[in-house]
Amino acid sequence: MKRGIILFTILFISLCQNSRIFSQNKQKLEGRAIWAVPANAGKTEKSVKEFVLKCKKANINIIVMLVKNTGGRIFWHSKKFHEAIDPNWKDFDMLKYLVDEAHKYGIRVHAWFCDFPEGKDSPAYKNYPEWAMLNPEGKTTTSEFLANGRPYYMVWMCPARRPGYTDQWLIPMIEEVTRLYNIDGIHHDYVRYPGDVAPNDYCFCDYCLENMLSYNHLHYESMPDLFIKLNEVLPKKEANWWSDNTAKPKNWNKMTRKEKADFFRKGSYIKNGLKDMNYFFFEYRSDAIKRFIRESWEAVHKIRPDIEVSAAVFKNPQVSGRFIGQRWRDFAPWINIMMPMSYRSHFQGDFETFLKLLEEYSRYEVKWAKGLTHLYLGITAHYIYKEEYEPLNNIYNLLNKAKNKTYEKNWNKNIQRSYQQIKKNLSNSAPSLEVKISSLVKKISEKDLTSVIPLLNEIDTLRKNPPPGFYPGEKLKKAIEAVRRGGVEGVVIFAASHIENKKLWSTLEEAFSEPSRPPDKALPIQTLQIEKISNDEKRIDKLEKMVYFFQITSIILAVLFLATIFISIKSFKRLKNVRK
Ligand SMILES: [Zn+2]
Repeated sequence: MKRGIILFTILFISLCQNSRIFSQNKQKLEGRAIWAVPANAGKTEKSVKEFVLKCKKANINIIVMLVKNTGGRIFWHSKKFHEAIDPNWKDFDMLKYLVDEAHKYGIRVHAWFCDFPEGKDSPAYKNYPEWAMLNPEGKTTTSEFLANGRPYYMVWMCPARRPGYTDQWLIPMIEEVTRLYNIDGIHHDYVRYPGDVAPNDYCFCDYCLENMLSYNHLHYESMPDLFIKLNEVLPKKEANWWSDNTAKPKNWNKMTRKEKADFFRKGSYIKNGLKDMNYFFFEYRSDAIKRFIRESWEAVHKIRPDIEVSAAVFKNPQVSGRFIGQRWRDFAPWINIMMPMSYRSHFQGDFETFLKLLEEYSRYEVKWAKGLTHLYLGITAHYIYKEEYEPLNNIYNLLNKAKNKTYEKNWNKNIQRSYQQIKKNLSNSAPSLEVKISSLVKKISEKDLTSVIPLLNEIDTLRKNPPPGFYPGEKLKKAIEAVRRGGVEGVVIFAASHIENKKLWSTLEEAFSEPSRPPDKALPIQTLQIEKISNDEKRIDKLEKMVYFFQITSIILAVLFLATIFISIKSFKRLKNVRK
């Protein structure tokens, strides 16, 4: 009897275990990634552990950790690029600890590269200034200006030049990280031209000027002095495009950089025809980016055939092809997970409008990526809080000006108006603080400046350390729901720093409360992979059915077994009694 009960218990426990394993495989298929910078992981083993635990609690399954920033500084213990290591990170090998810790929880780590920007004082630019992109005036991107006249700090390097930055610096860096660390993926960012400041002006370096002619075959390389006129046989001028005219201008060798650049930006393929030479310029740029993605893919896959590649890209591949050389459908075959940054800063209008536009964009991204690559949509936990941080920053700036006695017109009224916009959130999240700040705001007037400094201090603290709830988690959740409705495979959050600062970890835990597994690692040619995933699913379904069948049969057998023993004992006792 006892033996029977023990046997039954063991059988039951093992069956429960089995069904748990299978229910893990049945988890929701949703990728959840987060962009993070070294400061999020910190400089001790303990801080790394704490950071990974936060990600684990929020059911994150990929951490995209910055390893090369836009200033050309790197955050791994490089042997080959020692000079480029960020001086603040020379003593702690954060990446190593992060990878080890993340893997304990099954979280994957992608090494995030800001590909083409470097800093003015970065080793790459200092040692090889000839690798930088040049505009028609022969200047680098640091000659550009941002809004409000702020100087542009990044030096963008030419993606096309060979030998150059791409094959001599960037790809060898990517190879080294792949070789030295047990990372799961490489992540490309800034994988484009600098369209934010000058979408039509780069690159016209010496290499690109000549190479654009050859690449598009606008002259015969074997006979560079051969000029063939268009053979006009058809009445419409441009209908003769196929008759092989050499588009290269006759006086090419005497032209200045600016004139050559203008030939590509404003010239015509057919003399006196449509101004269409910029087509060749934009194609050349998109192809240069595509070539880099392919070459870096090949390089890392020689080292680690199972490594993934992901990329942060702009939301519309057609528009970004035109403006920044990032026609991402072209290079999707070498990307496992495309992460279009669908940030609120790339949309206009209020939050509710944004949610509608975001949902529509998500559907389009799905269409564009279909059959090519996995797709996670990038959502920022910063810009969605425009209604909260803009008034706060406005108050902060006005108070700073007042402190320095450079008052703007109606500054005190503007402070009061901005405060009204955040008052409700503040009173919901920190009622006593709201009362305190409210009284300081009321006191602000052109005649009474005594409350400027105390209010500035309060506002500064509020910016740096807001009370939980000041940035309502609902907004982030609504944005995540909008992209889910769009049908994407995953979400990627920008970024851990904003989640930390705005106290949104618990919001992420709620948004991702149901554990998920990311779509399987995919080969770049996705049709095969999609088949594989659905086959995997079918196999799991089949196995699960078998387990349930086995489970039910075993329970019935166990009950029958126990019943038989019970009846036997009863009969045996009865028999004994009869004998007595
Ligand atoms: Zn160039």
